[in-house]
Amino acid sequence: MASLYSLKITDIKGVGEKRGKLFAKLGAPTAGDLLRFYPRDYEDWGNYVSISASIIGDVNVIKATVAERPKEHRVKGGMLLYKVTVTDGFTDMVITFFNNRFIPNLLKEGETYLFRGKVTGGFHRREMASPEFLAENKAEDLVPIYPQTEGLSSKLIAKAVKECIKLLPSPMKDPIPEDIRKGNGLCSLEYAINNIHFPESREALHTASSRLIFEELLVLQLGLKRIRRKIKQDNRHPVGSDFSTEFASLLPFEMTGAQKRAVAEAVADMMSPNPMNRLIQGDVGSGKTAVAASLCYTAAKNGLQAALMAPTEILAAQHYQSLHALLEPAGIKVELLTGSVSAKNKKLIYEELNNGSIHLVIGTHALISEAVTFHNLGLVITDEQHRFGVGQRSALAEKGDNPHTLVMSATPIPRTLALMIYGDLDISVLNELPPGRQKIETYCIDSQKRHRAYGYIQKHLDEGRQAYIICPLIEESDSDMASVTEYAERLKEFFPTAAIGLLHGKMKPAEKDRVMEEFSEGKTDILVSTTVVEVGVDVPNAVIMMIENAERYGLSQLHQLRGRVGRGKYKSTCILVTDAQNDEAQSRMKIMCSTSDGFRIADEDLRLRGPGDFFGQRQHGLPRLKIADMMENMDVMTKAQAASEYILANDPDLEQPEHRALRAETLRLFDKNAGLTF
Ligand code: ADP
Ligand code: MG
Repeated sequence: MASLYSLKITDIKGVGEKRGKLFAKLGAPTAGDLLRFYPRDYEDWGNYVSISASIIGDVNVIKATVAERPKEHRVKGGMLLYKVTVTDGFTDMVITFFNNRFIPNLLKEGETYLFRGKVTGGFHRREMASPEFLAENKAEDLVPIYPQTEGLSSKLIAKAVKECIKLLPSPMKDPIPEDIRKGNGLCSLEYAINNIHFPESREALHTASSRLIFEELLVLQLGLKRIRRKIKQDNRHPVGSDFSTEFASLLPFEMTGAQKRAVAEAVADMMSPNPMNRLIQGDVGSGKTAVAASLCYTAAKNGLQAALMAPTEILAAQHYQSLHALLEPAGIKVELLTGSVSAKNKKLIYEELNNGSIHLVIGTHALISEAVTFHNLGLVITDEQHRFGVGQRSALAEKGDNPHTLVMSATPIPRTLALMIYGDLDISVLNELPPGRQKIETYCIDSQKRHRAYGYIQKHLDEGRQAYIICPLIEESDSDMASVTEYAERLKEFFPTAAIGLLHGKMKPAEKDRVMEEFSEGKTDILVSTTVVEVGVDVPNAVIMMIENAERYGLSQLHQLRGRVGRGKYKSTCILVTDAQNDEAQSRMKIMCSTSDGFRIADEDLRLRGPGDFFGQRQHGLPRLKIADMMENMDVMTKAQAASEYILANDPDLEQPEHRALRAETLRLFDKNAGLTF
């Protein structure tokens, strides 16, 4: 099958240049990809009924014999109409076709067909209009339905798949070793590929899909384990002394118990015989940055360089400002590296990273650019890790010699799942907020009360505080710039004296920084923004978060947005504006108003939206799966995990000939470009 990945789709019979492009668009540029392009559903032709048992108004499959030659009628407007009387031996039915001159050739008197379509009429006389039909002996019980695209119907896709299947060698090489297949009751790849596309029966389909789900999860686990194995080796950067107490004395506050615990766990890792490989899960505002800073301090004092990667320039700049102010006086050289740093300064930073004079570099994915080399990179931290793919994370780690790694996440996921996804990552939980935090009051209002909310905001501006307004999304306009600008214009009528700042995704990074800086310095009073402020930003003087069209966002996202306020000593408020009346929206708003516990909110999010949606946002940074669902196939995931351990125990590099196909599948799933190397 491997060779079919080098067979272009346009080399398949019936696929020309034009269709080839459509196949590529669907994710099947080669024959091999097309065989892995699975149907999304199946039409059931096997459960046919007699005419009298058909359900009026529903799609039915009826098996019937053509009773007499189709009759041609010409109706007004030149339309050609064919009426065919069919019988199942007891009852007759009339089927009508429009403008299809081939009907008399396709439907032969005395022959039996399956007709699939909506049944109309009444008790005495049933009818069908333009049903699909198949000759009785040609009918497969289950007909695949593929995700189609304009110009490429499911039928055409099925035809091309059939052609590809013809090209498969028999017997086919199977990527899953035989003992594992036997042990888990899995069918061969050959059977699975044939039956996922053209199932012999429901049972065969089930057997095929079980095997493919297992295979996909096995490949996923192998890929994740391979990435981690690189990390899980000897501790090349053992840390001799713990400087966390010294660091704590630099802070203007006392660390919470949870922060101290997380720091202690991480420092113990760095001193241990294996490198640190830890995940910190902490709710919004739990103080993850201070934990990261403490570890960077200890690393630097032990002669190691540290890198902290954040998903946005705003966030990176903010981390830089606070850590620079905190650590430079203690003799740690901190630099900021993002896409918008000037070429001249970049060059200087590259140099100083290379010769080791920078101890801590903070930045965006600019950190993984090829030009960046380190003198002695010992610690890699990724903030808000769900924004990065697995590959990006490991790409940064690969700039060092097995550095310690810490990932920080504010998107809690259920523990069982975390263990599967993060495998042997150790987990610290920051389940405590710094003292003095006031509960953020959350209210849900409809748009008629918006003016009162504005009044409430004005009152706080008068007291010297600031506010965020997350601006409404304009439907059918991909320009968030327009909606932010327009909204801000209208706001000016209500807040004639306030300084209003604008922030949206289309701005240049430097512009964004300037706007954020002005807000953070109190030069602007209201920041109108899209969700770009969602992650991490910290302005303690901002006390109101107003979110327009709140129903459009997931709970976890609302929680993140709300977390932008309540970060200082002032009482803070979150105002959700929505006119949505449906139950789901209402219950989501209710949850937001009743709890501020991010872990609970994540659970509810999962429960309300289902795993598909929750992970649909790709919050885990894992590759997209084709057939398996991590939540729904949890039991298979466990088995696949065991199988992956078994395989790697004997062949850690997947070098043995019988594992070559598995290795190729793993690379395919993780897309070589994403930074996964074997
Ligand atoms: P997050 O976990 O969401 O990244 P941050 O690290 O941004 O949270 O911290 C939120 C705010 O809390 C910051 O202003 C930070 O200075 C402050 N903070 C962190 N730890 C403490 C603490 N132990 N006591 C008081 N304030 C703290
Ligand atoms: Mg943070």
